Amino acid sequence: MAAFTLAHNLLFAPTPPLKTLKPHQKPKPHNLTITATSISGRKLRAAVIGGGPAGSSAAEVLAAGGVETFLFERSPSTAKPCGGAIPLCMIDEFSIPLHLVDRHVTRMKIISPSNLTVDFGSRTLKSHEFIPMLRREVLDSFLRSRAQSNGAHFITGLVTDIEVPDFSSSKPYVIHHTINNRKQSLAVDLIVGADGANSRVAKIIDAGNYSCAIAFQERIKLPDEKMEYYHDLAEMYVGNDVSPDFYAWVFPKCDHVAVGTGTVCARQNIKVYQRGIRERVREKIKGGKVIKVEAHPIPEHPRPRRVRGRVALVGDAAGYVTKCSGEGIYFAAKSGRMCGEAIVKASEGGEKMISEEDLKREYLREWDRKYVNTFRFLDLLQRVFYGSNAGREALVELCGDEYVQRMTFDSYLYKKLAAGDRWGDVKLVLNTFGSLMRCKVLGREMETLKL
Ligand SMILES: Cc1cc2nc3c(=O)[nH]c(=O)nc-3n(C[C@H](O)[C@H](O)[C@H](O)COP(=O)(O)OP(=O)(O)OC[C@H]3O[C@@H](n4cnc5c(N)ncnc54)[C@H](O)[C@@H]3O)c2cc1C
Repeated sequence: MAAFTLAHNLLFAPTPPLKTLKPHQKPKPHNLTITATSISGRKLRAAVIGGGPAGSSAAEVLAAGGVETFLFERSPSTAKPCGGAIPLCMIDEFSIPLHLVDRHVTRMKIISPSNLTVDFGSRTLKSHEFIPMLRREVLDSFLRSRAQSNGAHFITGLVTDIEVPDFSSSKPYVIHHTINNRKQSLAVDLIVGADGANSRVAKIIDAGNYSCAIAFQERIKLPDEKMEYYHDLAEMYVGNDVSPDFYAWVFPKCDHVAVGTGTVCARQNIKVYQRGIRERVREKIKGGKVIKVEAHPIPEHPRPRRVRGRVALVGDAAGYVTKCSGEGIYFAAKSGRMCGEAIVKASEGGEKMISEEDLKREYLREWDRKYVNTFRFLDLLQRVFYGSNAGREALVELCGDEYVQRMTFDSYLYKKLAAGDRWGDVKLVLNTFGSLMRCKVLGREMETLKL
């Protein structure tokens, strides 16, 4: 009876229904024999684990849509290691105030292994277009506050364990967490796992592994005249010296630059590649002072399983980062929002219990329909162009083409499949083959890709 009361209180107590345990106490195993087949008289209750762009976007939509929502973030004051570049469409789509943007990048340079440099953007970007660069601490805290003002309960706490009695039943799930080292627990109807690349939620639902790149980045404060060079400019470097399978970057931030690189296939050598990019930009960062060094995994592809029972993964936890560009902020926010909307729809505004089928139909299927081809296409590009120095030379050569630049910006900035013109597309295909032939990689890549 006591266990029933505890579980009942956890599930149905008024907000905030947190059970605080004394520091020496272990959380009691909850008797979860009650079933929550009906939720009449209360709202559906969701836990969103992780307060990055994915979690905050999910929490905002859930709370605004009538679901009682708890957003957990273990360390709101630390900044996620990130380049901070977002597509222009995200500003409008997610109503991000322009004053949060540190830099409006209007010029990009892409630099080949032989130091062939192509200007990307100065001729092709329209006067109102730019790549917004933000600090993640600024963006994340804005998105979290907005979720709160829409009604989400924000909990600064580390989720340590999740108790799932049975994925196929409608019994509640219990979130064990610590707040200031005090153990607490909360029973919920459903969970959105937005806890990043090392997701605990993914482990709980046995989501399967994905391969990860490791990204390494130094934030460097430059002397004023050197910083002026990067005022509205971002640089991308390719070559075996800076990464065997990705690119290295110099991105301008508010008062410093982020200089970094990534790799999947040679993660143990990441510091060698970081030295490589520092060497390539030696003159440009001379006199600079390193103010922060950071490293973090970047998922390479979606996990084999992203939904189980009433648990759904979003953002990096699900594996939504595009190859080739390593872009994940927009896809995190978008997947969080789509997942939140799916739950609100299936629960009719928080009035009904949802099921695994609802999540698969309303969230997963929609996501895959919208984005699976984008992810596959960028995967193919990475394999063709990043695998060898010859491929990278071909990539940089192609980037000089105005049509390629316009198509790239249309797809990146607006996240829509760019509608090309037929003659332009024919020229693009011919130029691609021409560049690859010149770089003697076509035959070898055809073999690899079994085209
Ligand atoms: C060096 C680097 C550079 C990058 N540059 C770019 C770029 O320029 N543009 C771009 O689009 N993408 C970039 N990315 C990718 C981008 O950072 C991620 O795709 C994005 O952060 C994913 O957002 P998310 O909300 O899914 O996860 P995250 O941002 O990782 O957020 C997860 C949150 O969950 C919290 N959390 C985790 N576990 C728990 C727990 N147990 N309890 C409570 N809270 C928990 C974490 O503290 C974190 O705040 C870069 C990545 C790296 C590593």
